[in-house]
Amino acid sequence: MFMETIMMKRFELSELIRSDNFIDGKWVTAASGKRFAVTDPATGKVIAQVADSGYADARAATDAAARAFPAWRDALPKDRAAVLHCWHALIVENADALGRLISLEQGKPFAEGRGEVMYGASYVAWFAEEATRIYGDIIPQQQRGKRMSAIKEPVGIVAAITPWNFPLAMIARKIAPALAAGCTVVGKPAEDTPLTALALMILAHEAGVPAGALNLISASRENAQAAVADWLEDGRVRKITFTGSTPVGKYLARESAGTLKKLSLELGGNAPFIVFDDADLDAAVAGLMASKFRNGGQTCVCPNRVYVQSSVYDRFAALLTKRVAALKVAPATDPEAQIGPMINARAVEKIERHVNDAIRHGARALTGGKRLSELGANYYAPTVLADATPDMQLSCEETFGPVVPLFRFNDEAQAVRAANDTPFGLASYFYSQDARRIDRVSRLLEAGIVGINEGAISSEAAPFGGVKESGYEREGSKYGLDDYLSIKYLCQGNLA
Ligand code: ADP
Repeated sequence: MFMETIMMKRFELSELIRSDNFIDGKWVTAASGKRFAVTDPATGKVIAQVADSGYADARAATDAAARAFPAWRDALPKDRAAVLHCWHALIVENADALGRLISLEQGKPFAEGRGEVMYGASYVAWFAEEATRIYGDIIPQQQRGKRMSAIKEPVGIVAAITPWNFPLAMIARKIAPALAAGCTVVGKPAEDTPLTALALMILAHEAGVPAGALNLISASRENAQAAVADWLEDGRVRKITFTGSTPVGKYLARESAGTLKKLSLELGGNAPFIVFDDADLDAAVAGLMASKFRNGGQTCVCPNRVYVQSSVYDRFAALLTKRVAALKVAPATDPEAQIGPMINARAVEKIERHVNDAIRHGARALTGGKRLSELGANYYAPTVLADATPDMQLSCEETFGPVVPLFRFNDEAQAVRAANDTPFGLASYFYSQDARRIDRVSRLLEAGIVGINEGAISSEAAPFGGVKESGYEREGSKYGLDDYLSIKYLCQGNLA
């Protein structure tokens, strides 16, 4: 009954825009009183002035999370699950408004924004169910009069730090497992996109997440380090879950070492996408379009290096170029938009630097290769670059934009070597119809995720995460709760 009434609560977009921190179940300004502007990347217009938090706000959030922890830890799993189910229902009920909010602050077309809402919500539903399936073990008896068992307990307070490219999904897939496990949470969303995360707090509160169990502070880029520093040092924060760049991930690991916290790091990728000569080329083009141009190329699983076998290179390039040249670039408010603006000026500058460097080193732009200044400051044309080579910047660094560099290869060993020739190892993709090759290559690729004849790999039921400098631990799936739990061994002696 309770859940059904809550499910019906639908908010206007304006009601979902909050500009204060959410601490201990209340909306509060930053202790300093400072604010910073969140802008629409399509127009540069200010959407809201949100709290620019610092040390004191982070500490207040941790204090609230510490107070809330014992009761949330001891709540029955089914009661935690019920709250998460409610939160899920509210997110789904408000999917249109949340999708519009994502488009507004992040720039992705509305269909993608709404798609992200449903994707993020799927993690909440998944972990609502997993909350009731946290089993331990009875260990087979080793000695008479002695019983041994292993139980799983929530690790404690979790700090969640998230990026801007999925303003809802990234934070949802950290908060949901944390709350499911019985942890309490302090969080900081990215400075470019704090509004969607703040809107989620409204819905979490509505859903019955107790005061203090979930706290969120926003901070400007300048203050991000200072705002988070207290969590790194505070021994009460037992875990950090971070999605973002590799340098910041390494920094968090280093700086939190003093209190030996658990860490889950989802860091940068430099995904290879290999097209073998036995591939279904139409399927490969479709898969590449889906995986490369999601969010305008601004995802950590977007293919960054596309390797095409020599004998099919020209045909693949032609098929791809036709599709890429037809992409509609427009602000998210245009219902036909397929690619929106990039997140900010820094992002466009990086794309431009990579493309110019590639062209200087001999690449040819088959389409695109320039800014679309007529649309606004943050737009870049979907681009295909032929004749890419390993000495180009875009081969070593993630471009994070709508640029497809095509590298040529002759044999399988060369393709695998090139694909693995990076410190990163998040997603990888290949297209082939040869069963033995599929088996070989999927084992040889150094990546946490392999898309085989498939470009859409994300799912709440699958373990998402990387190897090498793309980080460690997994989000989603039956493994996704492990990082929020610690195992306690109970040894009971002197039994009859
Ligand atoms: P990007 O380059 O894509 O913005 P970042 O890794 O810089 O990725 O940012 C991801 C998240 O990490 C954001 O929430 C950002 O504010 C935060 N962040 C960036 N630098 C620091 C830092 N030095 N300490 C703590 N958090 C940081």
